[in-house]
Amino acid sequence: MTTLALPATEDLRARARACLDRIGATVPEGDDLYARTPITGEDLFGLKGSGTSETEAAVAAAHETFLAWRSTPAPRRGQVVRRFGELVREHHDDLAELITLEVGKIEAEAYGEVQEMIDIADYAVGLSRQLYGRVIASERAEHRMVESWHPLGVVGIISAFNFPAAVWSWNTTVALVCGDTVVWKPSEQASLIALACDHLLARAAEESGAPAGIHHLLLGGRETGETLVDDPRVALVSATGSVPMGRAVGARVAARFGRSLLELGGNNAAVIAPSADLELALPAVLFAAAGTAGQRCTSLRRLIVHRDVVDVLLPRLTAAFERLPVGDPFDKDTLVGPLISRAPLERMREAIARVTDDGGKLLVGGDRVETTAGSAAYVRPAVVRIDAHSPVVREETFAPLLYVLTYDTLDEAIALQNDVPQGLSASIFTRDQQEAEIFLSAVGADTGLVNVNLGTSGAEVGGAFGGEKETGGGRACGSDAWHAYMRRSTSVVNYSGEVALAQNISFS
Ligand code: NAD
Repeated sequence: MTTLALPATEDLRARARACLDRIGATVPEGDDLYARTPITGEDLFGLKGSGTSETEAAVAAAHETFLAWRSTPAPRRGQVVRRFGELVREHHDDLAELITLEVGKIEAEAYGEVQEMIDIADYAVGLSRQLYGRVIASERAEHRMVESWHPLGVVGIISAFNFPAAVWSWNTTVALVCGDTVVWKPSEQASLIALACDHLLARAAEESGAPAGIHHLLLGGRETGETLVDDPRVALVSATGSVPMGRAVGARVAARFGRSLLELGGNNAAVIAPSADLELALPAVLFAAAGTAGQRCTSLRRLIVHRDVVDVLLPRLTAAFERLPVGDPFDKDTLVGPLISRAPLERMREAIARVTDDGGKLLVGGDRVETTAGSAAYVRPAVVRIDAHSPVVREETFAPLLYVLTYDTLDEAIALQNDVPQGLSASIFTRDQQEAEIFLSAVGADTGLVNVNLGTSGAEVGGAFGGEKETGGGRACGSDAWHAYMRRSTSVVNYSGEVALAQNISFS
């Protein structure tokens, strides 16, 4: 087997520096944390982190700015997001290159992530003219009951490494038009991208006449996040990451009666029904399972295949997995880039060992790719055939590892899909409309995202994004997800000139 030749870290460092220079962002050098590239697994820059006093100062400034920003008309608030969207378009290539450099996404996916930032900015600009309430019929004569939405306060954003820019954009663009201000604690594995995004937003604020204090960036890990989470001036904590992180953050925010929006881990399944169009299902399964090296919250982890088609599907699936080009994410032929670090590689190996101990069979992949950089973690995406009730199937292993389970009846397939603690995304491949409708119905998949004839990953910003159960219950992006970033008031106006109590109560 040949050794994968990787670029020199020095060259990657120079590329990162050039991207940041073109964007205009500066790197606060220090030794509190390190910006690393998973392409070689080596450090690019040492960074100065945000300690407790910087975090408190950022929240104080964001709160101060909020007191004025909340009264700025929403369509004017939208102007800062409009300008931000223009700047992202201008720096599409630079941002995508940084994403590839710092989290290892192949170029096409990195470019797509930046497109998602543009899409949500467009959405939020439109939303800035559509923040509406309702008029509700009052039971009292000559009374008007209305529901209004008002800015909420400071929104604390904690984000994961795998969507280092898009998830922040989902939250920030919507929060800003809703009249909130933002303090962002990105993943410690994606600080450079955060510096670039923060700089572009600061420029947009300056050029559109918005106050600089609408957005603050904190660099650091868990401890910085905890300081942010515990601050009572942070009205909403929107946290994206693993279930253990969400469990800790959710409890801390709840203890101070704050609000949280949790976007946590998934354990997503696709059902392949007997009538499925395999020409459609195969590429969709391949992208959902191996795309982003299996490091999407919506990555396909479980393939639930009808017993009648499993012997037709599996040879084609494993052959396709075998051919997947793993390598340097800047190489145009690569479809699977590196894992973010060695840790998920170890977890993937452990999961495969547990599966085989449990009587499952590794059909393809799972082996580490030898490279010229010792610290990098490249792995061949794996397919494992396993008993449907094996305990390892219930866990999210954040790596390209696909479990294949079999079923006989649709009820059984739905039960298997739902028999995991997480509830993010599910899909079914079928040409049977009745089956599709059942899968989408109240007795079907219990996830926040449910698809028919497409994979589990790759959501559009127009819909509400998020999941149930241990995925946390939060919703971001489109539809009415903006409600999470505002507070609701219900008001009744009496224009009858008389006292009229609700429920006909007489008090005279
Ligand atoms: P992670 O949980 O390790 O870290 C996420 C963020 O939380 C980081 O910024 C980290 O510094 C911070 N953090 C960790 N512990 C904290 C604490 N106790 N208090 C405050 N902040 C804390 O996750 P990761 O490895 O960066 O990302 C992968 C995970 O994220 C996967 O489980 C994936 O499914 C999930 N994810 C979910 C979604 C979604 O929308 N549902 C999107 C992307 C990623």
